[in-house]
Amino acid sequence: MSFSPSMKEFCGVFAIYNHPDAARLAYLGLYALQHRGQESAGIVSSDGDQVYRHVGLGLVADVFSNPRLFTGLKGHLAIGHNRYSTTGSNSIANAQPLAINYHGGALAMAHNGNLVNSRTLRSQLENSGSIFASSSDTEVILHLIAKSQQKTPEARLQEALLQVRGAYSLVCLTEDSIIAARDPNGFRPLCIGRKEKATLVASESCAFDLLEADYIRDVEPGEIIVINAAGMKSYKLPAAQKVTQCIFEFIYFSRPDSRIFGEYVDKTRRKLGRALAEERPCPTADIVISVPDSSNTAALGYAHESGIPYDMGLIRNHYIGRTFIHPSQDMREFNVRIKFNTVGGVLRGKRVVVVDDSIVRGNTLRKLTELIRNAGAAEVHLRISSPPIKYPCFFGMDFPKRRDLIAAYNTVEQVRESLHVDSLQYLSVEKMLSAVPVGRCGYCTCCFTGEYPVEIDEAYHKFLHEHSSPILELDFRS
Ligand code: SF4
Repeated sequence: MSFSPSMKEFCGVFAIYNHPDAARLAYLGLYALQHRGQESAGIVSSDGDQVYRHVGLGLVADVFSNPRLFTGLKGHLAIGHNRYSTTGSNSIANAQPLAINYHGGALAMAHNGNLVNSRTLRSQLENSGSIFASSSDTEVILHLIAKSQQKTPEARLQEALLQVRGAYSLVCLTEDSIIAARDPNGFRPLCIGRKEKATLVASESCAFDLLEADYIRDVEPGEIIVINAAGMKSYKLPAAQKVTQCIFEFIYFSRPDSRIFGEYVDKTRRKLGRALAEERPCPTADIVISVPDSSNTAALGYAHESGIPYDMGLIRNHYIGRTFIHPSQDMREFNVRIKFNTVGGVLRGKRVVVVDDSIVRGNTLRKLTELIRNAGAAEVHLRISSPPIKYPCFFGMDFPKRRDLIAAYNTVEQVRESLHVDSLQYLSVEKMLSAVPVGRCGYCTCCFTGEYPVEIDEAYHKFLHEHSSPILELDFRS
């Protein structure tokens, strides 16, 4: 998928226990997970007595540009977070890790996912006197923990998690422990690593590679892990009816060099590309190109299976600042041109298969295919390595409303016409499922099928269609 303002990645989490330079390693871990969220970043550390926190809006390198920060972020344990807002606005109040002081001591939390009953729980908590400092659903979990009368932090977390529904891969920090938890459906990835005597937890294993740490295993769906001086203990939440890991992590979100859900993303993405070539061939094409970067691997798989040569017809500019004002459609189209350029020598006179991983609104792809035609391509054939997206995601993926999804109310032929391409074909749900790893895993496919594995609260539906708060936070950034 090309970058589109209509679909954004969400969050990345990282934790480390038992390293003298914990905050600095958390910084590097977050750096590797930057693709999962670029709106804010933060680290909370502890030296066993005192908890230290620094969060800010922007990229990890910007938020932690002052090396003196790491002198302040003391201690041998730390957690970190990269945020893209899916629930709650992008303000400093929502930057994570959130941290509280309550009757159980200090507690910090970083969350990847989305709770689908958070509005109901929030109302109940507010009615009983709770005051919220952010509009993030993560704070709901913190309030539930603070209300718990259980004896230990992990028991309080367990009690809180029994009340929430939806997607969460969490890391928490107390003065002396790291706690990690993954929802029983296992929507979002979370894995455990080791570097010498330190234990690490991260959204994706690419964070371990940068630190030269070893991947040990995934945090299982419904598992709570406690890491402290006593070692590592595992607890279980009641199992979900079915494990429904987000299949989009393989299609688009996760880095190709990561290992998630027990498998390498690159390997699975290539299989998706090969499956696409098998199911949706384009025998008359001269070259296969990708929409960089997320579709590169699927396009390689397509080219390999079809025998059609892979070439670089589109170049992506990686150095575009995020703060780009696009008040009109024209400017949005300019955004596409500034991010992508065509390689005329590759495309001129060629019948081109363009492999992309998904189509959301279609605006970016429409502009891209126009650029490819203008560069002299004789024919443009689109092949998509996932099925048509017809339904919104409630589990952490920031799709637009259903009416803005191009495939929701249009046939494939209508989408093809709208994108002005010679042919358009998607991978089927069945073929997609045949390309992802099986074993104990099940997958969420509800943005394609509309079959939601978790009941969504009416209050949450309503919230998504309304302003989240009567207070409009103004954020003036240079
Ligand atoms: S709806 Fe789609 S993006 Fe959301 S969790 Fe399910 S598969 Fe992933």
